[in-house]
Formats: sequence, C-alpha cells, structure tokens
Amino acid sequence: MPRLGQYGLALLLVALGAAARWALMRLVGPELPLYITFYPAVMLAALIAGVRPGLLATVAAALFMDYWILPPRGEFGIERLADGVGLAIFLLMGAFTSVVAGLYRRTRGHLEELVAARTAALHQANEQLQQEIAERQQAQEARAQLAAIVESSDDAIISKDLDGVIRTWNAGAERLLGYKAEEIIGQPITRLLPPERKDEEAEILRRLRHGEYVEHFETVRVAKDGRHVEVSASISPLRDATGNLVGASKILRDITKLKQAQEALRRVNEQLQEQAEELAATNKDLEQFAYVASHDLQEPLRAVGGFVTLLQQRYQGKLDEKADNYINAAVDGVTRMQALINGLLEYSRVGTRGNVPAPVAAGAALQEALENLQMLIRESGALITADPLPTVRADANQLTHVFQNLIANAIKFRAERTPEIQVGSRRQDGAWLLWVRDNGIGIEPQYRERIFTIFQRLHTRTQYPGTGIGLSICKRIVERHGGRIWVESQPGQGSTFHFTLPDKGEPHESSSERETH
Ligand code: ADP
Repeated sequence: MPRLGQYGLALLLVALGAAARWALMRLVGPELPLYITFYPAVMLAALIAGVRPGLLATVAAALFMDYWILPPRGEFGIERLADGVGLAIFLLMGAFTSVVAGLYRRTRGHLEELVAARTAALHQANEQLQQEIAERQQAQEARAQLAAIVESSDDAIISKDLDGVIRTWNAGAERLLGYKAEEIIGQPITRLLPPERKDEEAEILRRLRHGEYVEHFETVRVAKDGRHVEVSASISPLRDATGNLVGASKILRDITKLKQAQEALRRVNEQLQEQAEELAATNKDLEQFAYVASHDLQEPLRAVGGFVTLLQQRYQGKLDEKADNYINAAVDGVTRMQALINGLLEYSRVGTRGNVPAPVAAGAALQEALENLQMLIRESGALITADPLPTVRADANQLTHVFQNLIANAIKFRAERTPEIQVGSRRQDGAWLLWVRDNGIGIEPQYRERIFTIFQRLHTRTQYPGTGIGLSICKRIVERHGGRIWVESQPGQGSTFHFTLPDKGEPHESSSERETH
C-alpha cells in the first residue's frame, strides 16, 4: 500500500472510532469510557498499515479527544490533571500498541515470505524428484530390455570380475557350454579353458587392465561334457559408475560350423587345385603326344605318299582296271591322312606355337583371312560384308585363322542360294563379342556342341569335304585367349558363329598363361 494511503487509512480509522463513540454514546449514555473506541482504531491502523500510521492514529485520536471531548471543548488544552494523565497514558499505550502491532505485522510479513520461499523450494524439489523418478524408471526399463536382449541372445554372454570369477551367465552360454547359471556363477572362468590355453586368461586380463577391447579372436572353450567348442570371442572391460575397472564381459559365438565349412571348402579347393594340375599335366601330355605323333607320322606318310603317287604316274592304265582303282584309293587315303595329320599338328600347336596376345586390329586379321580365301570367294560368288571391327587383344595369326576357318565353313556349307556372309562385333561385359553370320544350310540344335569336338563332322566327305578339325582349332584359339565360342543356328536358314575376345587393354587371366615355345 502506498504511504499516503496508509496514513489516510489511519486517519479514517480514527474518524470511525469517533463516529463509533458518538453512536455508542447515544445508546449507552455519556458514561461510555473515553478511550474505548479509539484503542481499536489505533490497533487496527498499526496492524493494517504499520507502526507510523499507528502512531499517527494515536496522536490524531489524542488531539481529537483533547479538542472535542475533554474540557475545555473546542480548544487544545487540559483543565483537569486526571484528563492529562489519561491522555498521556493513551498516548503511551497507543505508541506501545503501534510498535507491538507493527512488529507483529512485519514478522508476519517476513514469515509469509519465508513460507512462500519454502513452498517454492519444496515445489522445485518435488519437480526434481518427479524427474528423477521418471529417469530412474526409464533407466530401469532400459536395463530390463538390455537384460532381456542379453538373455535371449544366441551368443553366450558372460561377465567376470577382476579375479576371473564368473558373475553372470546367460541362456546362450548355457546352450553353448552346458552349465546352468546357478552351477557356474561364482566359479573361476579358467574352468572353461582347455589346459593348453590356461595362459590366455592372464593375457586377456592384462589387456583389459590397459582398457583394451579384445575383438573376435578365435579360441576354444571346454563345455560341461568336456566337448571342445570353437568360438569367436569379443571381450570388453566392465567399469563401475566411477569408471573403475571391475571386470569384463565376454561374448562367445559358436564357430564350429563355420570352421567345418571353411575346412570343407579348403579341402574342396585343394582337390580342385590337384585336379586342375592333373588336367593341365594330362593336357600337356596329350598335346605333346599329338604333336609327336603327327610330326613323326608325317615322314613315313610322305614316303608312302611319294611311292603311291609314283605308282599312279607309272602304272595308271597299264595294269587292269582293279589295279587302277586300288592305286587311286591308296592315293586318296594318303592325301586324306596327310590332311588329318596336318590338322592334328596344327591343333597341337595352338597352345605351344601361339604368340603372346597383343592389341591387334580385328579388321586387319579379317582382311588377311579374306585374301587367303579369295579364290574360294570368287568361285562361290559369296557376298561378304563386315562392320568396322574393334582392336582386341589377341595373337594376330590365330585370329586370322579363326576368321578364315569360319568364313571357309560359311562358304562350304552354303545352301542353294548365293552365300551371304556378315561379320560384326559389339561390346559385351567389358570384352568384345564378334560373329560370322551366313545364310547356309544351318545346324540341328543337338549338334551345336559336338561340332567343336575334334574330328566330329555332320556330313560325309562326298557331301562336303573336310577333316572335322577346323572348329576345334577355333575353339582352342578362342579359349586360349580367355574367350568362348558357340553357334546359334536355324537349320535351312543359316548359322551365326559367335566368339568373345578380351579388350585390347585387358589381358585375360588365361590368355598369357601359355606363351611361344
Ligand atoms: P570340317 O569343316 O572340316 O568338316 P569343322 O570342324 O570346321 O570341320 O566343322 C565341323 C562340322 O560343323 C562340319 O562338318 C559341319 O557339319 C558343321 N559346320 C561348320 N560350320 C558350319 C556352317 N557354317 N554351317 C553349317 N554347318 C557347319
């Protein structure tokens, strides 16, 4: 309350005291004690407005009584000693009441402030408490969830203290090692270690003391029934709330099956490796055999061929008709045998006489093949078209050979129409796919693999001459370069021979394994 208002209130209360006195006097007569209505006014003023308004009310009431009530009325002054003493006592009592009431008021105000402050503090403490309870609840829930996760984990999760004594043991650990929690908790962890690995524990503890984690190290643990279980272990230090190392937690994962699978894989790999080596050795032997056989057969065959040709030249028409036929058949046989042996020799040389694959323009190799075949092309009237061809990584001579064989076949196995042959290429899976397409007689689906095998033919020599070696040589050449060859065909409509070769910059793994000898 503003000061002025407090003093105003004090004067108002004095006026009310006067009014009450006047009203009571009318009821009870002039014997009404003089100060009876002014004491309450002073007390109320002090209680409500404070010490000074109380004092003001005391003085105002005294002046009022002196002026209006005590004789001489209408002026300030005292006639009788008793009135003076009364007025003095009233002033003293008023002052005393004012001070006491004012003190009471101030104390009460102070107390109220104290109570308000305490209430606020209590309120705050209460809120903090609520928050802490909520946090604790959350922490408890999180702990319960963690516990559930640990319990339901497939892995064995174990904790131990710094003395190496097992402290917790989940269901996964029970499944893996056979011990129930109640029988193993409190036991030394070394019970789970095979004798030859007893030192492992000390080393783990040493590393944990340095705050290190031990992750995925493969080891062996002993189950309750004595079984040795291969596990992958991850170990981390456990600390208390103040950060002190109190133990370690271990996660053990059963890797027996993984190990078995790895072992099986290793064995299969070894076997494969052995087989591959055996195959390579056999191949080499066969190659050597084919080479030696065909090479060494050439000499006597040349002699036989020479004598048979001499026989033909000297005695043709001089003996009887039968003898002529025999001689002709012998010449034919020798010629064919020479062709077969030459083919075989060529076949055996693909791996041993090839050059190291190098960047080569496929277009140039094709051009050379066409030049070698120009007689055949002219005679057959074949129409040959070629797209621009890429640069590939190959032995140029062998690539020419492949084109030559495929185009010669396309002309040889032509249908009743003019042979039309198209050579093309496209990029595929980081390598080059090349093809030779014809409109010839085509190939039945069941023979599409067989024609690449040596000496395999689909026709008699009278229908179509040949040795059945050409495609097998093509296959060896393409495979030597790390590529693949196959045919797509519609009988009566033509065939397309496809083959792949590595790009110029990418030597294929197997393309350089055999080099010129
Ligand atoms: P050859 O041509 O000496 O018979 P190849 O190894 O070159 O031997 O061919 C094997 C067989 O594949 C041929 O006898 C033939 O039946 C078939 N063949 C090859 N090329 C074609 C082709 N372009 N069209 C139809 N058949 C073919």
